[in-house]
Amino acid sequence: MTDVLRLYIDGAWTEPVEGRTADIVNPATGETTGQLALGNEADVDRAVEAAKRAFVSYSQLSVAERVELLEAIAAEYERRLDDMAAAVTADVGTPLFLARLSAEAAAGSVRELAEILGKYPFEERRGDYTVRKEPIGVCGLIPPWNYPALQMTEKVVPALAAGCTTVLKPAEIAPYSAQVFAEILHAAGVPQGAFNMVVGKGSVAGSALTKHPDVDMISFTGSTAVGIQVQKDAADTVKRVTQELGGKSAHIILPDADIETAVSMAVQGVISNSGQTCTAPTRTLIPSSRKDELVGAIAAAVQAVVVGDPLTQVFMGPVASERQWHTVQRYIQAGIDEGATLVAGGPGQPEGVKSGWFARPTVFADVTNDMTIAREEIFGPVMSLITYDTVDEAVDIANDSPYGLTAYVTGSDPEQVRDVAARVRAGQVLLNRVQPDLTAPFGGYKQSGNGRIWGVAGLEENLEVKAVVG
Ligand code: NAD
Repeated sequence: MTDVLRLYIDGAWTEPVEGRTADIVNPATGETTGQLALGNEADVDRAVEAAKRAFVSYSQLSVAERVELLEAIAAEYERRLDDMAAAVTADVGTPLFLARLSAEAAAGSVRELAEILGKYPFEERRGDYTVRKEPIGVCGLIPPWNYPALQMTEKVVPALAAGCTTVLKPAEIAPYSAQVFAEILHAAGVPQGAFNMVVGKGSVAGSALTKHPDVDMISFTGSTAVGIQVQKDAADTVKRVTQELGGKSAHIILPDADIETAVSMAVQGVISNSGQTCTAPTRTLIPSSRKDELVGAIAAAVQAVVVGDPLTQVFMGPVASERQWHTVQRYIQAGIDEGATLVAGGPGQPEGVKSGWFARPTVFADVTNDMTIAREEIFGPVMSLITYDTVDEAVDIANDSPYGLTAYVTGSDPEQVRDVAARVRAGQVLLNRVQPDLTAPFGGYKQSGNGRIWGVAGLEENLEVKAVVG
């Protein structure tokens, strides 16, 4: 991997206005692999101008033409899956197999969206009026870094599908994936100016995009703290802001749950991608009647997780950056200091690791829901086991959180599982599984965000509603 020194504006690769750069660091080795251009306000201005100009003609493409474009993007994506997977691994240390799966999911979501787009009713007559769904305009798109292939795709492609033009400000620690993504869109023939990309710092390029008067909508995914700032910055120009923010999801293991399903969901959900998953069920709620059995089985499964070089056959690689590693360490120490019982992992690096930002997959038992590790999003491989006595209490604990992104329920009685799902305040509830369905609406209750993405919901986020009366 090398440098990422150019921006993609108005259908061409271009130098940034200023020559400022930052290091690109491989988290698996700690080594600098290249330099990243830091686009600034003037670059954002150029990109927004291009998108605004392009909107005039791009928004007039027929649905059939946009379906054709999405199909071309999907085909190009499928051709570049290996490149995208390698880029994701180099950027953030995701094990190669998982990086490949997420790239495949991203490409698959483009195909699914092409199908949805072809059938979507953009115009509907109701009595004496017609309701038209029209593209909102220029969309500013700000994703995070944890699943970069998927997150850039789920923002840019629905906007293009809706007839909007776009400016992407990718996460600064995932520049290689951003480069491959822009190459895919360019090769697929996205019309000049409909897609633009300014790499750079969130506080500079991201903020300039959010405040820009010619941007009609901001779609932001990231931490709740930055999401609040984005919402404030967008307020002066009354933009639509959709937000996919943090989470502290609960996994309710019901008293009759199958142990293998429960343990595998807990490990897959929390430890996969080094715990850097917004939907990770980091609060695992276990019935007191089965406490010893579940604590033992989950601790053993987490101790058996193979951690190492993400280019080899491992389940878990490093966390994405030095900063992330120190954050995870602080939270592990907080768990110890506040009296939780460490049953797997702990502070420091896994045995034998000499370089790179590797954390230890960690499980705490005897966590209470008021402890720091139960309240705050860690974004690392740290699981909190919280014991409950009754199912009502489990639901109360699940709901006692400022977040409400996802919840998980494991149990053998379908009626009880569905009843619990109905009582949990979260945007998506997964029953006896951790794999999401990328066509189901996705987004958060409470401080986990506003709006919904994926499938029809993702398309509609980018549409305005016009009533034509008479
Ligand atoms: P972050 O909030 O630090 O950054 C997210 C993006 O915002 C990055 O592209 C960053 O450059 C940009 N940014 C930073 N400051 C900005 C500003 N002032 N104005 C505009 N943009 C700015 O988050 P992160 O560390 O990249 O990602 C981790 C967080 O994302 C976690 O909290 C996680 O839960 C959340 N997340 C949520 C979802 C979801 O769908 N709800 C999905 C993935 C990640």
